[in-house]
Amino acid sequence: MKILEGSFQCEANTFCSQRAGIEDFERYDGEALLTKMAATPIFREAGAQVVPLLYASALPSGMVTREAFEYYKERFVEMIEREKDADGIYLYLHGSMYVEGLGSGEEWLVKAIRQVTGEGIPIAIALDYHANLSEGFLGQVNAVQGFRTAPHTDHDDTERRAARSLLACIQKNACPHPAVFRIPFLGGDASTTDKEPFVSITKRLQELDGEEGVISCAFFNGQPWYDSAYTGNCAVVSCLDSKRAQKEAMSLAKMFWDGRENLKLEHAMTVKEAVRASLEQKEGLLFVTDSGDNTTAGADGEGTLLLREYLKKDTKGVLVCGVLAADVVNDLLKEEIGTIKEICLCKGCREKQRIETTCQVVLKKKGIVYGWAGDEVGEGVLLAAGNTDLVLTNARAAFTTPEHFARMGVSLEDYHVVVIKMGYLFPKLKTFTENFIFALTPGVSSNDFAQLEYQRLKKRMYPIHMDITWEEIKNQQEVRL
Ligand SMILES: [Zn+2]
Repeated sequence: MKILEGSFQCEANTFCSQRAGIEDFERYDGEALLTKMAATPIFREAGAQVVPLLYASALPSGMVTREAFEYYKERFVEMIEREKDADGIYLYLHGSMYVEGLGSGEEWLVKAIRQVTGEGIPIAIALDYHANLSEGFLGQVNAVQGFRTAPHTDHDDTERRAARSLLACIQKNACPHPAVFRIPFLGGDASTTDKEPFVSITKRLQELDGEEGVISCAFFNGQPWYDSAYTGNCAVVSCLDSKRAQKEAMSLAKMFWDGRENLKLEHAMTVKEAVRASLEQKEGLLFVTDSGDNTTAGADGEGTLLLREYLKKDTKGVLVCGVLAADVVNDLLKEEIGTIKEICLCKGCREKQRIETTCQVVLKKKGIVYGWAGDEVGEGVLLAAGNTDLVLTNARAAFTTPEHFARMGVSLEDYHVVVIKMGYLFPKLKTFTENFIFALTPGVSSNDFAQLEYQRLKKRMYPIHMDITWEEIKNQQEVRL
């Protein structure tokens, strides 16, 4: 048995102006790829020969350039053409890669692969929970698994489930097409899986995992900062019996719909309230998340809105962390510690989140921007602007773990309030404190979806349209069922 495996990932926020190009992807191949992918041991234990294709992964970003997509897609196609005797293909994708001028990257990747392989061999996919899945994608694949945690902690489990799904297809000599049931729901940072309806959905998915005839089952939250006709939640089930797959997908969707009102943002406040409430905190540490400029949801992190608010207050013990300002940082890196300089952030901008801000700063420290994959991606500086401290970086950064602060040389014990470019608090930050305020800031990752200017998403979506009924949703599916 020969199985081909690879990965191609970039979560796109289509409201961002920046693009992910060829060089933005981190690449692995050969033995390094096989070691990196959690599916490999599952295939090997089943006696399969595993052939590495390509692993190319970029940080959440704006759309992927057409050039970058074609470049990597061609690498996959060339390698698959050399392995025409393969028994199955396993891919770990994101599910919300949007390619400039093309749409779903996942769709066009699997279509290109099918051009080579035909319909005869199964393709199984592992996906992020924030996947937006087009019909064109689902029509080409046979098994689909997705993360069941948000914040995500089950990447490897999801890969292993998808690997088992592929083995089930091969062993049963089946290439079923997954059934999808779509819910017109925009789920942002409120859709964490520690609460209902996700607790019940996860329980049901785990039951289905063990049932005879079920090849794969998944529930996707979608990613709301992705403007497409197919943006939104969906349940995707693949069974040997397609009628049963439809029934199970609908049942999962109904479970979600009935529990949707539990999905409320916790600790959410307007900008003014967030600043006031955070400064009243005098003991211990509190994070304030700048949710509209969330780099983990693809935003660039250049926003100065919260920085300006805290500069006005000029209160001791405040750190505004991880503002991207490459030119300013590169100039400051040439200076000695203790240098006093005037800096200008977001020069010439007067947007809601990016506002020209000039201040006098003292250079306190220089540090390293720690990337998502444990690598060094850039440099940063710790500055004092009056009583407020700030960290500026020359690379897009997400301070999601204690290591990120340590590499920057920042000691969080020095602060009461730390502002970060994030939505919900990442689990590893809870080692510092569980106290946080979710600041409802504007921007490309805003949780106020009515503010986003959707062009391609034309249908009525909850919660923009609160009057959507289950009957209306069921009627929308009829074309597919
Ligand atoms: Zn995700």
